[in-house]
Amino acid sequence: MTIYQGPVFDMARQQFQVIADYLDIAHDQRERLLYPKRAITVSVPIHRDDGTTEVFQGYRVQHHLSLGPTKGGTRFAKSVDIGEVAALAIWMSWKCALAGLPYGGAKGGVTVDPASLSLRELEALSRRYMQEMIPFVGPHTDVMAPDMGTNEQVMAWFMDTYSVYRGETVTEIVTGKPVATGGTVGRREATGRGVVHLAMRAAESIDLNPSGASAIVQGFGNVGSVTATELALRGVKVIGVSDHTACLYDSAGLDVAKLNAHVAKHGTLAGFSTEAAFDPHALLTQKCDILVPAAMERVIDGGVASQLQCRILAEGANGPTTPDADLVLAERQEIFVVPDILCNAGGVVVSYFEWVQDLQQLFWEESEVNARLAQILDRAFTQVTTRAHRDNVSQRTAAMAIGVEKVAAAKEKRGLFP
Ligand code: GLU
Repeated sequence: MTIYQGPVFDMARQQFQVIADYLDIAHDQRERLLYPKRAITVSVPIHRDDGTTEVFQGYRVQHHLSLGPTKGGTRFAKSVDIGEVAALAIWMSWKCALAGLPYGGAKGGVTVDPASLSLRELEALSRRYMQEMIPFVGPHTDVMAPDMGTNEQVMAWFMDTYSVYRGETVTEIVTGKPVATGGTVGRREATGRGVVHLAMRAAESIDLNPSGASAIVQGFGNVGSVTATELALRGVKVIGVSDHTACLYDSAGLDVAKLNAHVAKHGTLAGFSTEAAFDPHALLTQKCDILVPAAMERVIDGGVASQLQCRILAEGANGPTTPDADLVLAERQEIFVVPDILCNAGGVVVSYFEWVQDLQQLFWEESEVNARLAQILDRAFTQVTTRAHRDNVSQRTAAMAIGVEKVAAAKEKRGLFP
C-alpha cells in the first residue's frame, strides 16, 4: 500500500518500471529508488478578504537525499494532490541527475486556483505555506523554485518569510527570485531558452532549417511565452499558441511580440483575436515542424500521439506524454522526441547557478549564465542521443536511464545505513 496514487503517479511508476527493466535493476532495489524519502502535508489557513478563514492543503515531497539537497518547484493549481506532487518530485530527480546537478528531486504545491485569490490573499497563502515548511527545508536540505501558478514574486515572499524567521537574509533558500532580491539574470527565461536550444539541436539532427519552419506552443505561461519568443527570434513561424483561456491558430504565423504585449497587459491570451480562435483539442495534432507542449501533464495520450503531425516534439511541460503515447511514438521514428527531463532542464540548471551565486555572493553576467547553460544542455543532449542510438531505445528511456543510473550509483556507493 502507498499514499501515492492517481494517474500522474501511475505514469511516473510505469516509466520507472521500463527503465528498471532496461537497466536490469535488482527487484529489491526498485522501491528504494522509486518511492520518495519524505512527504510533508500541511494545512495552510489564511484570512480571505471577506473576513472569513479558509484552509488550503499544501504538500512537499522530497524524493531522495543521496546526492545533496532536494530541489524543485512549488505549484499552485487546482490539480495538486500528493500523487501528482510525488510524480513531479521523482521526475526532478532524474532531471537533476541527467544534467549532473548535485541535487535530489522535490516538488511542492497547494491545491488552489491562484486566479481566485486577490494579491493580498496570494501573499498570505505563499507566506503561510513557507512558514509551515520551515522545519523541513533549508539551503542545504531542500531548495524551492517556481512552477505552474507561482512566479518570482511568490519566491520573494518565500525568501522573506524564511529570512524573517532566521533573523538574517537567506537568499539561497529559494531560486527563481527577482534579480533585485538575489536572483540571477537569465533564470526567468532559462526554461524556454533551454527548450529552444534543444529544439534547435534536434532540428540540426534531422536537417530541418529553423528559418521558415513552423511551430505550435501549448501553454503561454513563463515557459511557453519565452519558448515562442525565442523560436520567433530564430526565424521560426509560430502558427499556434494556447493557454487555459484561449487557443489561437494562423497558418501565416502569429505575431509573438503582440501576444507577449497582450499577456503583459491582460494576464492571459483571452481577447487577443477572434479571427485566429481555434479548437484547443485540435491544436496539438495540427501539422507543424516543432510542437512544444508547455502546459499540463498527460496531454499527449496514445490517441493524440497517433495523430501528431510534427517532426520534433519538444516537451517543455513535465510529463506531457503518457506511457501509452510512448508506445505509439516508438513506432513513429519520423518524430524526434526531446523528452521533458532533458527539454525543460534549463530551468533547474539556472536555478542551480542562482543557488551557487547566492552561496558565494558572487554574481555572473548573463552571457556567462547562458554559455554555461548551453554547455550543460549540449552535454546532456549528446549523452541522450548517443545512448538512444547505441542501445536502440527511445530518447526518453535513454534520458531517464542516465538519471536513474546516477542516483542508483550514489545509493550503492554510499551503502544502506546502518
Ligand atoms: N519547476 C521547474 C521544473 O519543473 C524548476 C525547478 C527548479 O528550478 O528548481 O523543472
